[in-house]
Amino acid sequence: MSQENKESQILNMLKERNDILIYVDNAATTKIDIEVINSMLPYLCDEYGNASSIYSFGQNARRAIDGARKQFAIALNSQNNEIFFTSCGSEGNTWAIKGIAHKMGKKGKHVITSVIEHHSVLNACYSLEVEGYEVTYLPVDSNGMVSIKDVENAIRSDTILISIMLANNEIGTIQPIKEITEIAHKHGVLIHTDAVQAVGHIEVDLTDLNVDLLTASAHKFHGPKGVGILYVKQEIALHPLIYGGHQESGLRGGTENTSGIVGSGIAIQKSMQEIPRMRKKFEELSNCFISRIMEECPKVRLNGHQENRLNNIVSLTFPNVDGEALQMQLDLKGICVATGSACNSGGINPSHVLLATGMKKELAIGTIRISFSKYNTAEEIDAVAAAISSAYRKSSNRF
Ligand code: PLP
Repeated sequence: MSQENKESQILNMLKERNDILIYVDNAATTKIDIEVINSMLPYLCDEYGNASSIYSFGQNARRAIDGARKQFAIALNSQNNEIFFTSCGSEGNTWAIKGIAHKMGKKGKHVITSVIEHHSVLNACYSLEVEGYEVTYLPVDSNGMVSIKDVENAIRSDTILISIMLANNEIGTIQPIKEITEIAHKHGVLIHTDAVQAVGHIEVDLTDLNVDLLTASAHKFHGPKGVGILYVKQEIALHPLIYGGHQESGLRGGTENTSGIVGSGIAIQKSMQEIPRMRKKFEELSNCFISRIMEECPKVRLNGHQENRLNNIVSLTFPNVDGEALQMQLDLKGICVATGSACNSGGINPSHVLLATGMKKELAIGTIRISFSKYNTAEEIDAVAAAISSAYRKSSNRF
């Protein structure tokens, strides 16, 4: 589409737009919970001391941060001193990969990951390659699953780290991380998992999972933006990514984001309590939504693993449809969904995840992702299904 056409489309969109908003892009970010906001306010207004100051005003902030650390440790079944606060999931992933690689570079320079990781993992790996490390990018099957056998076959005597995501952000496929961890440990290799889409949505028990490092991000489970955690098992040493003061046991410099950390502690606590209820709710919403879409758009394809999946993420591919056009039509109706592609100066780039599942480029650009949260209602999901069916009929007529 020409730049001119795109702009006039955006202008029309602004003119036509009413203020109804149905937000079903919760894998991108979630609405902050009001209880989370309330827990943060005292630390933005009154308790603004620096947690590193030794007078009691500063120590109030220190206690609040330690309280949130304990909330994460309890939620994930780990120890307090294994939880490190970061600024986001991207920082946690970068720190885990580069921090381990730089610490263990003398033992070996080989890292294993998968082709469907988030770009914060992939780009950290590319940057290690520039430094002289070698990275194996494992393929996935048509459901987005990494093969355990492939993991074992890829391990070499100089492998120091395996980084495989727990759940995929585009298609929701959940990887067999516990089994992959057993294989990694059998060969004396450390394992990191990007659990940004999993934590707060499914039970994650670190004692059971036994990974060495794990990343999470608070804005994915109704916490504030700007706070993540990196779990690092007690006996594991890694290099800092951010140098500075003695914060986070001297491993991550920078004055702590006290209010954000306090809010994140409440967010993880609430999310964990809500998981059983949400699992049921998302199952009902997604079953209803998928069967309605399948009925009205018979050629549609549901992406990702059919059983081992996050049930709050639904990725759909519509043959002969432009996902971006579909997204824009939905936007005109106040509905926020994601596509399976990214626009850049060279045109439309279909998602690396969909391509890795073997999907053809022409098909992949017809993909949209709907992701639910606790705030979505059955009526909203009905409205989204109806809007998608009508937009699909219009779009498919044009192609
Ligand atoms: N990993 C996954 C799987 C994600 O979905 C995201 C964000 O969408 C990230 C990492 C990055 O998290 P953040 O936005 O907190 O940097």
